[in-house]
Amino acid sequence: MRVFWTADGGDRSTVRHCAFRLDAEDAIIGFCADGQALKLATNTFRVELPRGPYEIHPDLLALAAWTVVAPWTRRRVVFDRPVSAELAGAIEEGWGIEAGPVGGSPRAGSRLAISYSGGADSAAVAAILPDAPFVHFQRVSHPRVPNRWSHYRADVLARLAAETGRELTIARSDLEFTLAEPRPGYPEHHAVAAGALLLADELGLGGLALGYELGSRWLGGDRYLHRYTPDNPMWAPHGAWGQAFAAAGVPLVLPVGGVSEAVTMRLALASDLGERVRWCLRGIDGPCGTCGKCLYKELIHAAVERRPLRTGVTPERGVARKWRRPPPYGGQEMVEYGCARVPGIEDTVFGEAAGFLNATEESTAWLERCYPPAVEEIPGPWRGRVRDFMAAEVGFMSDDEARRVETWGIGTAEATPELTAETASGVS
Ligand SMILES: [Zn+2]
Repeated sequence: MRVFWTADGGDRSTVRHCAFRLDAEDAIIGFCADGQALKLATNTFRVELPRGPYEIHPDLLALAAWTVVAPWTRRRVVFDRPVSAELAGAIEEGWGIEAGPVGGSPRAGSRLAISYSGGADSAAVAAILPDAPFVHFQRVSHPRVPNRWSHYRADVLARLAAETGRELTIARSDLEFTLAEPRPGYPEHHAVAAGALLLADELGLGGLALGYELGSRWLGGDRYLHRYTPDNPMWAPHGAWGQAFAAAGVPLVLPVGGVSEAVTMRLALASDLGERVRWCLRGIDGPCGTCGKCLYKELIHAAVERRPLRTGVTPERGVARKWRRPPPYGGQEMVEYGCARVPGIEDTVFGEAAGFLNATEESTAWLERCYPPAVEEIPGPWRGRVRDFMAAEVGFMSDDEARRVETWGIGTAEATPELTAETASGVS
């Protein structure tokens, strides 16, 4: 794999263009770190940054490109300018891929920014870190790929992010259109950070906070293994991606990595961003209320508010069908939580799932507290703040509750990777 960056633009914005060329041993079918097969659509993408041309450390350019090209790289990656030995070593160790050329020194920074999607999880992160600036990734069309996803209203999410009143930088990119199949989306989950990486020198970033919660970090949620995954290659600090971001001086920080989506929902809705929380890419004046993600989030929302489910989704709808089949489900811990707490659940589209799961308030009580090891792996400069917040607002799991995390999914069959709109949409 060969990667080339060029830039154009003026004083008010810069467009960074990335082109990449596959080597003979590379293939257009590759694999995301979560195991999902990905088919390449095109070999160019761009990232539009506000303001003006400025220097970007070669490690940041390289890592931003790597979040896109990693799935299709088999043996080596050659960047167009030398990267630090630290970053090359992280790629070598994490992927078994030779990276170069090597030269120059690593970078460092000190500020923490939040990769803010507008969803409940990142709004909860914002509530924990009220002074941290936001970087928002906005999807834009690709000049060479037809956009059959025009119902994805990325512009609405960007507007809502701007209305928060926080210090905000929006990076607009068409990188999701490098992916032909299963659909446009982030080639690696970390591609959401491509803009933040290119802005890291400008903003002085020494860390990037993301809204990945307990399910994604520890329970192998989303579309891969539904079991306890302390060595998660995407989100563990010692995993391949954690090491690569640390090598580029932007370690990943997961302030809500120890709490479930019930807690992030509660924190987000109670925060001053509550009115602007939006997990659905389809709605304009509000969430669409009819997609699979809206249905799943409504289950959690109703459970947190202890009220009946409000949805127009009927059991015959495609998005409801999976809840009639037996588990495992993606995000199953939250389905258990919701089924145990939503009044009248048996008469909803989750009725059959509730019957399969047989969850109770007691069996799901661990999902209301914080898993302590998640706080311990937060980098030193920010760990104390997160620990204090969790102690005051959430509380920590007991040893027995922590064991619920550490035995999650063990002894059950591995789930087949399940592809849902939400995992490819990039809104968390
Ligand atoms: Zn929706």
